[in-house]
Amino acid sequence: MKRDIRFLLLICIQVFMLAGCGGGAAAAGNIHIGCVIYKFDDTFMTSVRNNISDAAVGKAAVEIVDSQNSQQIQNDKVDLLIAQKVKALAINPVDRTAAGMMLEKARKADIPVVFFNKEPLADDMQKWNKVYYVGAKAEQSGKMEGELIVNYWKIHPEADKNKDGVMQYVMLKGEPAHQDAELRTKYSVQTVQDAGIEVEKLAEDNADWDRVKGQEKMAAFLATNGDSIEVVLSNNDDMALGAIEALKAAGYFRDGKYMPVVGIDAIAPALAALEDGTLLGTVFNDGKNQGQATFNLAYALAQGKTINKDNIGYEITDGKYIWVPYKKITKDDISDKN
Ligand code: BGC
Ligand code: CA
Repeated sequence: MKRDIRFLLLICIQVFMLAGCGGGAAAAGNIHIGCVIYKFDDTFMTSVRNNISDAAVGKAAVEIVDSQNSQQIQNDKVDLLIAQKVKALAINPVDRTAAGMMLEKARKADIPVVFFNKEPLADDMQKWNKVYYVGAKAEQSGKMEGELIVNYWKIHPEADKNKDGVMQYVMLKGEPAHQDAELRTKYSVQTVQDAGIEVEKLAEDNADWDRVKGQEKMAAFLATNGDSIEVVLSNNDDMALGAIEALKAAGYFRDGKYMPVVGIDAIAPALAALEDGTLLGTVFNDGKNQGQATFNLAYALAQGKTINKDNIGYEITDGKYIWVPYKKITKDDISDKN
């Protein structure tokens, strides 16, 4: 008899748990959100993507798809998600100038859109009231990167290797036309000039945010310019880490041979490079808050809620933008990134 009761109890518990789980899954599954990433094979976007997934747990079913760096593939994925009647779309465009066209499709189906990481043109953002953008101010990251190098240059007179009072630098750019590539390039250099330091650009090339390409381009810069390079500016950490590999192969970072290299993002391997003294500085690009804000917005829009700071948890600028701040990081403040 005792056994029977225990058995019954067990059944009850199981039924209860199943109902509970089923209920939870159904609730999360009720809100279907589509999320399209420009390419999965991007270190920083992998962090944003994981943070979107984490933020969605227990709330919504977010379907995240890879555009494989092809706008054509992205268009097809967006069409598919629209056909599935997702309640909101979060889009990291392949080509930021294609945002207008994607948003037009979503508008016709009345599906709100949150763009993130690649900022649509201002005109496109005005085309509909259910379109938002989550990102970070490219100009701010460029300035911070410039400040890191200014700081170093001022306290290290030996950095001016040929003693001509001019900073001879090379620039590794991200993919062309990306606001972060264009503005980081512009403002990092301008910040150095604004600090009263004369600059000379020895070389500049696109390495598409990629570590291997960064290494190849840096090897080419070294082959052409040799030891006249005094500073390496990179639009992101992955390319900076590639450059460090090329520099190591050329004998740098040992026997007193040094090169100041700065990047942006503060990804884990960059923090390790700060620790071991190969990377001089980086700028924390807050993938966690960008992912969280993107999800919060898409989730609120999917439920037809009005958008304000109270229900999103982030300041909304000009009714459409969430700007997540950057932060300078050197070896001394690695722990500040969290
Ligand atoms: C990041 C890069 C990344 C790019 C992707 C930038 O904000 O700094 O690391 O590759 O976004 O669009
Ligand atoms: Ca010099």
